[in-house]
Amino acid sequence: MGFAGEGFEPAPWIWRNGEIVAWPQAVVHVNAVGHASVAAVFEGIKAYLSDDGERLLVFRLDDHLRRLHRSARICRLSLPYTLAQLRAAVGDLLAANGFRHDVYIRPWAFPSGMIREQMVPAGSTCEVVVDSWPCHTELADLRGARAAVSSWQRITEASMPPRVKAFSNYHNGRMALLEAKENGHDLPIMLNERHKVSEGAGACLALVLGDTVVTPSLTSGVLDGITRATMVELLREEGWEVQEREVDRTELYLADEVFFMGTAWEIVPVVAVDGLTVGHGSPGPVTRHLADLYHSLVRGRSGKHAEWLTQMAIR
Ligand code: PMP
Repeated sequence: MGFAGEGFEPAPWIWRNGEIVAWPQAVVHVNAVGHASVAAVFEGIKAYLSDDGERLLVFRLDDHLRRLHRSARICRLSLPYTLAQLRAAVGDLLAANGFRHDVYIRPWAFPSGMIREQMVPAGSTCEVVVDSWPCHTELADLRGARAAVSSWQRITEASMPPRVKAFSNYHNGRMALLEAKENGHDLPIMLNERHKVSEGAGACLALVLGDTVVTPSLTSGVLDGITRATMVELLREEGWEVQEREVDRTELYLADEVFFMGTAWEIVPVVAVDGLTVGHGSPGPVTRHLADLYHSLVRGRSGKHAEWLTQMAIR
């Protein structure tokens, strides 16, 4: 048996961080993200304070919760909460914490029970935790990042599902990030197994090439990013040509603008790739315009896409 069910007899002591501790004291707080993380799946969601200070606007909450369900399904974990229950959980948590500023919300699901084998069996029921913490926005004050193509390849469909938001996948991005920093850059850009551009370490990527905005296709080893989908929709609505296709490394050097995008990162302009200046070496006009659009959207100022904003009253 891989899991402790009824009749589970724990050993009285356990070794932990160099100490022998009694079993009942060897507890893991729900915030200890490392536990059972081989199979754990999660989401990263952001809520923005409305201008009147009365509400938090959770951005694309249902899309994030649907992705959590999809990640669990693909990893063959059983999530015991429906989308509606998880939506209510986020509301309850935000109300309990009484936040009056922008917030990052992280739900995650990990197999419950005591694991006695490395491979978590299919269908394992999950515990679900939702954590939240204050998180400010940099959308009004874009800072450029110096990026470098990583020697670490983005995980591929041949090894594990890149579209899944599972903690295990993040070893990949972390190695790339450490390498980039070690080499004096801010952020990595990962290529996939076909040597095409994939994404950053926790954010999707887009390029501006003349009048066209290009982002690596969903078959390029990227997470099916919600900010990416938002960017595609917002720019197309304004008449921009947005291509989702394979992207060559060389295009990074030819681009007028390059930017990362993600829930936590929002829009991060890239001002250099591999030491080559992008455009004029500062956030370009399309990137700035998109950041403005995104900012007014998530704060509920533009009145656009109200269906993407779940309003939670601050009590
Ligand atoms: N790629 C990875 C690996 C990520 O972790 C994230 C952040 N969730 C993204 C891309 C961007 O996705 P989203 O816009 O849905 O936050």
